[in-house]
Amino acid sequence: PVLVAGRTISRATLHNSEEIERKDIRVGDYVYIEKGGDVIPKVVKVIIERRPANSIPWFVPTICPVCETPVVKVSGEVAIRCPNIKGCLEQQIRRLIHFVGKGSMDIENLGDKVVEKLVEKGFVSRPSDFYRLTTNELSQLEGFKEKSITNLLTSLEKSKIVPLDRFIMALGIAHVGKGTAEDLARKTENIEKLSALTEEQLMDIEGIGGKVAKSIVSYFADPVHREEIARLLEYGVAPFVEDTLAIQGHAFSGKSFILTGALEHFSRNEAANLIKSRGGKVSEAVSKKTDFLLVGEDPGSKYEKAKSLGVKILTEDEFIAALESND
Ligand SMILES: [Zn+2]
Repeated sequence: PVLVAGRTISRATLHNSEEIERKDIRVGDYVYIEKGGDVIPKVVKVIIERRPANSIPWFVPTICPVCETPVVKVSGEVAIRCPNIKGCLEQQIRRLIHFVGKGSMDIENLGDKVVEKLVEKGFVSRPSDFYRLTTNELSQLEGFKEKSITNLLTSLEKSKIVPLDRFIMALGIAHVGKGTAEDLARKTENIEKLSALTEEQLMDIEGIGGKVAKSIVSYFADPVHREEIARLLEYGVAPFVEDTLAIQGHAFSGKSFILTGALEHFSRNEAANLIKSRGGKVSEAVSKKTDFLLVGEDPGSKYEKAKSLGVKILTEDEFIAALESND
């Protein structure tokens, strides 16, 4: 890293392979860089005097550095890609990292390094494996103590109630970005319905073109993908669509909830889902920002704390009544 115009620069662009060849930039070279209007500085020229004696020119890789499959050129682009979609370890890790990421399942306490370690240990090879991780397996990860294990297992549990558009994003369907995922979620409202749509039906959805429609259909045509989705749902992943009509003006909209004690009619996840589907959110700890405490049998310390802070307490019956009312 060097200091340029008051900022530390650790990377500069070489543009593409033709530029590298034209400027004869080799591995280990010292170079002049220039910072223009762009964020990323560019490499201007090589300082030949400082070139190592045994320098070798750089070539565009012909094989994937990880799985050694010959690479292919992406049609219409300068980029090259490893075509070994199912067998390449690096691609597998990238997909898993994408799955747990913020725009996708948003699983906290599960950073890139942890994903890599889980794959390395053979505990995770496909997304649904995250939801079968055990305390015993996690305890074998370096630096994982009781607290971090509990945190990760809790985050995994929490991530199961996920907006449908983020679940669609998590699947990593080619050409399906955030906007498209939102459109698909709004139009189909569930993953089974989405997976059954034909190209024509998909193209009837505003904003979905032929390329995207084709990509979606071929994704769901793959039995490996269908089985994986079925497993995720079986492990309790429950994508939901916010009911915009119910949210508008519902008493729970924009309110913060805490759950404590055992509920008679719902699991914790179900109750959380019902709150979220009405525009509310569920938090972990009681604070001054908490609007409602939903209290079940044998409530914990949260109940006392909420009472002392003057948080509105809802019994399960009151909760059910409020769910059904729309004002
Ligand atoms: Zn590869």
